[in-house]
Amino acid sequence: RKVFVNFPITSAFYLSADDSRHIITVLRKRQGDSIAVTDAAGVTYDCRIREADSQRALLEPLEKTGQKDGSSGRVILAAGLLKNDKFEWVVQKAAELGASMIVPVQMEHCVVKLNDTRRRDRRLRWQRIAQEAAKQCGRDDIPEVADVLSFPELLKAYGTMPFIIPFEKETRPLRDCCAAVQTGDVVICIGPEGGFAREEIERAVTELASCQTVSLGPRILRAETAAVAALAIIMYERGF
Ligand code: SAM
Repeated sequence: RKVFVNFPITSAFYLSADDSRHIITVLRKRQGDSIAVTDAAGVTYDCRIREADSQRALLEPLEKTGQKDGSSGRVILAAGLLKNDKFEWVVQKAAELGASMIVPVQMEHCVVKLNDTRRRDRRLRWQRIAQEAAKQCGRDDIPEVADVLSFPELLKAYGTMPFIIPFEKETRPLRDCCAAVQTGDVVICIGPEGGFAREEIERAVTELASCQTVSLGPRILRAETAAVAALAIIMYERGF
């Protein structure tokens, strides 16, 4: 398991109390041991533990061992807010599957409606889940969880990128437009439990330069299943 820090590593640095406790009590690392640490720029260093107790660990970088490769573009998952802990599950799976960013979207048919305070709290929680999932699966970067956006805000912020919208009323399979999403940035946009509003689909199709509605098969999938299925198919097409 990796440790992430939210600053660039340039010289010796202290880990937070939580991470110090984690490497000492869970990973059972000791002074002199080494551990992989990924910094805010996605650069991974092999670091030696210079001093450590369960409160504070001082690490020094020895050598660079990896760097996030952003050359093939980003896969961004924009998904309608979901009830209970389903969105947390989507965030975790999207991080495992390699999404670069997760954008929670307050859509018209979302059962969940979040006020500003709850949006902030949820976002922090989702970001922690993304970080944990990234650590657990050995990614070199942490997917960012963006602010909750409305559907028009989503189109405005990300509408210059190719949009793939899995839509249960579409018959054209996702497979048929995979060639267009093998490299470069792409947004996969999934509706909430109640599906997209008709106006949302119309708006995306008419306003965006590159938007394709696609089918994920003849069965109506739960929103969280659709998110994972679409991400897995696109990652497969991009060679992971
Ligand atoms: N309320 C809708 C209905 O009953 O017709 C279903 C919405 S579905 C539970 C949630 C989201 O998953 C949809 O908005 C869509 O993005 C995606 N989805 C589910 N099944 C799909 C399929 N077979 N093809 C494409 N997208 C699908």
